[in-house]
Amino acid sequence: MCEAEKLGRAVSPLLAWYRENKRDLPWRRDCTPYSTLVSELMLQQTRVEAVKERYVAFMRRFPTAETLAAASEEEVLKAWEGLGYYSRARNLHKAAKIIAAEGFPQTWVGVRALPGVGDYTAGAISSIALGLPAPAVDGNVLRILTRFFADPRNIDDQTAKKHFSALLSGVYPPQAGEFTQALMELGAIVCVPNGAPMCGACPWSGLCKAHAEGREEDFPVHGEKRSRKLEELDVYVLKCGDAYALEKRGKGLLSGLYGFPLVERGGPSPAEGELLAEKRAKHVFTHIEWHMTGRLVEVPARTAGYLWATAAEIAERYALPSAFKAFRIWLK
Ligand code: SF4
Repeated sequence: MCEAEKLGRAVSPLLAWYRENKRDLPWRRDCTPYSTLVSELMLQQTRVEAVKERYVAFMRRFPTAETLAAASEEEVLKAWEGLGYYSRARNLHKAAKIIAAEGFPQTWVGVRALPGVGDYTAGAISSIALGLPAPAVDGNVLRILTRFFADPRNIDDQTAKKHFSALLSGVYPPQAGEFTQALMELGAIVCVPNGAPMCGACPWSGLCKAHAEGREEDFPVHGEKRSRKLEELDVYVLKCGDAYALEKRGKGLLSGLYGFPLVERGGPSPAEGELLAEKRAKHVFTHIEWHMTGRLVEVPARTAGYLWATAAEIAERYALPSAFKAFRIWLK
C-alpha cells in the first residue's frame, strides 16, 4: 500500500476519535475567522494551558477585528502581557487593521500574507476558519506522521515538512477544520512529545508502523540541536519614593517593550544609590538564555532618561515582559 493510500485510510478513524475525545477549549466555541487568527497567533510557541485564560480576556476586550484595529499599541501589548513573544501582538494588531479595512481574506495566499502568519498558521486558519483543504504541519504533526510511517527522515529539515504537507494535501476530507484540529489534538494528548505515546488510546494503533514494530520512541528523528546563547546580565530595579525606573527597549529581544534597566554583567550601574536587595533569575527565550542578577536600588533622585512609574501604574499600563517576572516582587 502506498503512503497516500495508507494515510487516506487513517482519516475517518481520526475524525471519529476527535469528535469523541476533543478537549473543550475556548477557541473551539463560536469560532470565527478573526477568533481563529487570535488563538492561532497566541498558540505559536505557547502552551494551551497558558493561552486559555488570556484568550478569553483578550476576546472580551477586543471581540472583533474592528475593536482591535481601533486600540492603541500600548493597550494591545497590555492585553498580551504574560504571553511573551510580543511581536505576535504587534502583528495581530496590524492584521486586524488590514481585516477591518479589507475584510478577512478568503484564500490561503491571502491569509498567509497577513502579518505574523507563516505556512503553519496559514494552514490552520485556512482549514479551521475557511474550510479549505490546507495542511498545518508543525513539530506535532511531523512527530505523529513520522511515527505512523516509521519514517527516519530528519524533521528539522524543511524537505520533511514539504513531504508531509504534500501527502496530507492529497487526503484532506471535506471536514478540513476538524481534520486539522484532530491532528493537533492527537499530538497534544495521545501521541505526545515527552515520554511514551499512549498508543492504547490511539485511533491509529492498528495502522501505525512504529507501534507495530515497538519503535514509537525512535521517532521523530532530529538533526543536531543548536545550543542557546547565554547572556549574563545585571538588572537594576531603581526605586525613588514609590516610583520605579523603566526603559523602553531598543532593537533586539523585547524590542519596544518597557523593562527594568539592564547592563552586561559587571557593567556600570545606571545610577548610584543604596542596595536594598539582590537576587538571581534565569529566563529562557527560543535561542537565548538570560542569566540575570537583579538589584533593587534606592536612588535619591529620579535619574533622567527613564520613565518613572508606580507599581499600580506599571500593573495597569505597561506590559512588563515575563523575563523580568522574578523582580516584580520588589514593586510595592
Ligand atoms: S499508535 Fe502510538 S506512536 Fe502511532 S500514532 Fe498512535 S500514539 Fe503515535
